[in-house]
Amino acid sequence: MTEHRLIGTVAAGGLLFECESCGRRLGIERGSGELVILDHGDRAAQHRGSIGDVELTATVVQP
Ligand SMILES: [Zn+2]
Repeated sequence: MTEHRLIGTVAAGGLLFECESCGRRLGIERGSGELVILDHGDRAAQHRGSIGDVELTATVVQP
């Protein structure tokens, strides 16, 4: 399986993870901690990324 790396940045509303390979973007809302899909990118790839104490692994995205 293809593995992509997510680059985490701190945004105004929470955390933003962006894939350097396919353009997938995930947001984690500050406060609620809810994960929001902003851009799906390559759905077949496995994405990993971390920022500070927060680590993302094998995120499952619903169609
Ligand atoms: Zn990707």
